Amino acid sequence: MTIGKIIDGKAFAAGLRDKVADGVAAFVEQTGRKPGLAVVLVGEDPASSVYVRNKGKMTVAAGMESLEFKRPDSIGEDDLLDLIEELNHDDRVDGILVQLPLPRHIDEAAVIAAIDPAKDVDGFHVVNTGRLATGQEALVPCTPLGCIMLLKDELGDLSGMEAVVVGRSNIVGKPMAALLLAENCTVTIAHSRTRDIASIVHRADIVVAAVGRAEMVKGEWIKPGATVIDVGINRVVDTEDGKGRIVGDVATAEALSHVRAITPVPGGVGPMTIAVLLRNTLVAAHARAGLAKPE
Ligand code: NDP
Repeated sequence: MTIGKIIDGKAFAAGLRDKVADGVAAFVEQTGRKPGLAVVLVGEDPASSVYVRNKGKMTVAAGMESLEFKRPDSIGEDDLLDLIEELNHDDRVDGILVQLPLPRHIDEAAVIAAIDPAKDVDGFHVVNTGRLATGQEALVPCTPLGCIMLLKDELGDLSGMEAVVVGRSNIVGKPMAALLLAENCTVTIAHSRTRDIASIVHRADIVVAAVGRAEMVKGEWIKPGATVIDVGINRVVDTEDGKGRIVGDVATAEALSHVRAITPVPGGVGPMTIAVLLRNTLVAAHARAGLAKPE
């Protein structure tokens, strides 16, 4: 039995961060200032706090300026919108990231809409989603852009390949499908109402699973030789020792004998997301400074 390759997202992300750091050094030399990333964190959610801390550390490690704006859960929507407006006009800030989810009393869509699209390094603003959908230059959501980078690194030209994306969220599934289409794949999006998902996944040369259901995509669903990108992050508790662990949306152990290559969870897509965020911030800084897009 042949076993597929495990794609090392951690190593790829480290390489991308190094490349970004080189780009930052060149930017500083050209402009005399560091690219700046502003991260807005509302409330005390422990997972969000960890993400924000990691983002801050990696931003600084890449040579950029990290600005953190922590606000209490009780902040009103108007005050949050005022903060976004300030950051839109702050010359030190090239990228604005509002850590989601926001408290229930705040309209997430309104907050995203308030971000200057030129600083929208998460790529969630409708101007950027519209540009992506129409094939124009855009700031693209970090997770799906990271997935495309891994796929192109593994497969080279994706043109003509059959791709199935499981999940249709605005932050992963839909932009993922748009990126695969832009690479000339034949794209199918499956979701919770899709009938006979197993046979649809079985058609694919490329499977991207972004569902949020532990090991939902079974090994036997995968066409032999397909490449699988597992975006899912699911915490499960082992019945035997009662310990928690993180698994993806794909039953990796089963899938390994079917795939050409697969991303592991953890250590696959996860590390790419922050690396691409840094890359998007560098791209936004270049555009704001009137410089050509970095390599
Ligand atoms: P959402 O909950 O927003 O979307 C999940 C999607 O999966 C929906 O489109 C839903 O369909 C679909 N779905 C749910 N159940 C099924 C089913 N039984 N069969 C087929 N499709 C189904 O999740 P996200 O897109 O935000 O995230 C997906 C996963 O990726 C999560 O595990 C999340 O933690 C992870 N993630 C990882 C990141 C990383 O950095 N590695 C970054 C972002 C997310 P419908 O629309 O019909 O409800």
